[in-house]
Amino acid sequence: MKTYTKEDIIRIVSEEDVEFIRLQFTDIFGQLKNVAVTRSQMEKVLNNEIMIDGSSIEGFTRIHESDQYLRPDLNTFAILPWQPSTRKTARLICDVYNPDGTPFVGDPRYVLKKALARAEAMGYAFNVGPEMEFFLFETDEKGLPTSRTTDAAGYFDMAPIDHGGHVRREICLMLEEMGFEIEASHHEVAEGQHEIDFRYADALKAADNIVTFRMAVKTIAQMRGLHATFMPKPVFGINGSGMHTNMSLFKDGKNIFFDPNGEKQLSKEAYSFIAGVLAHVRGMAAITNPLVNSYKRLVPGYEAPCYLAWSASNRSALIRIPAARGQSTRVELRCPDPACNPYLAIAACLTAGLDGIEKGMTPPMEITENIFAMSEDERKRHGIDSLPGNLKEAIECLENDPIIVDTLGAHIYQSYVSGKKREWDEYRTRVTDWELKKYMVVY
Ligand code: GLU
Ligand code: MG
Repeated sequence: MKTYTKEDIIRIVSEEDVEFIRLQFTDIFGQLKNVAVTRSQMEKVLNNEIMIDGSSIEGFTRIHESDQYLRPDLNTFAILPWQPSTRKTARLICDVYNPDGTPFVGDPRYVLKKALARAEAMGYAFNVGPEMEFFLFETDEKGLPTSRTTDAAGYFDMAPIDHGGHVRREICLMLEEMGFEIEASHHEVAEGQHEIDFRYADALKAADNIVTFRMAVKTIAQMRGLHATFMPKPVFGINGSGMHTNMSLFKDGKNIFFDPNGEKQLSKEAYSFIAGVLAHVRGMAAITNPLVNSYKRLVPGYEAPCYLAWSASNRSALIRIPAARGQSTRVELRCPDPACNPYLAIAACLTAGLDGIEKGMTPPMEITENIFAMSEDERKRHGIDSLPGNLKEAIECLENDPIIVDTLGAHIYQSYVSGKKREWDEYRTRVTDWELKKYMVVY
């Protein structure tokens, strides 16, 4: 990872003709926000003196305690390659602080840092590699998004069937300019659906990368007259978009999930981590799968998980252990979707896994059969539980999981849950086209 000092930033800003600096942070639902300043304010930026009014940011402060300070993480400095090439624009991701110099408890990046500090106290570094899926859709005459695509391609197809290849290419090139190591990109299963994978990183950087990735993909698609969406299930009847999350713990530079003598060459810690994630995955679903729409993806038949099981290979299981071993040994959790707040989602996954390790949990037996083909009775016999079926159930599961509640902290927990309850209420009181078609004539 690049590390920058204040002097480096001042030098690069001048050498590279940077005029604007966007100071970024996210609200509790993972929306990237920013305030832009010009280079004339560089001293203030680097002395943590830029102030924002948090009262209008979702889940931040109340009106009478709204002043907050942005402390840029210098190592996140990057020039935005899609902005003009003279008088350039750069960004810095910031931590949010209170006027008294304490970290703001409503800052999701702080939640992740706290979870990481806990891992560090146990001697662990946490690495995360996300697999980001998204759709590219056409826009209408007014430039508004539609759910139409001219693309009829499927998994790994290429041009001329794949109509999104040129946009993926541009996204990859621009992200590389920003310091990403792009490992693979391809057309996904559904028409209009794509995936770009970038190299794993320590968890904080991985979460920063996810918000940067979403910004880049949406911006570059827009420049091409298309609309990119990370909505988990934009079209009924075809695959939705996931954010499979590959996780590993390192101690003294060594991947501790790997044990050459262990069952499947996995260590005791790896099994306990899996068990911990399985124990808390229902409680953290409202975080990893945050939208009403998220639960329309988590249904049988579309390569998205629904049932709580793990397997070394079986893609119908919620947790898969990819074949790689040694330093690349990892646990892949398949439920998170790309609409999540990555800081909170990664913090929740880590805490769940650490809880498994601390309590020495053991996971249930591996499931090697296709779980989607099992009847409810068979699943019961195997003791296979399900993910929450909708956002309401997910909120209830979160309320009943004190470990995940504690990870979020009281401030974010309360704002998050009340926001999500409002979202559910808004949804459940709507009359949908499906209802009209189904009931209007018959009743
Ligand atoms: N799109 C699928 C999902 O919703 C995953 C497909 C894949 O295995 O990459 O999780
Ligand atoms: Mg995929």
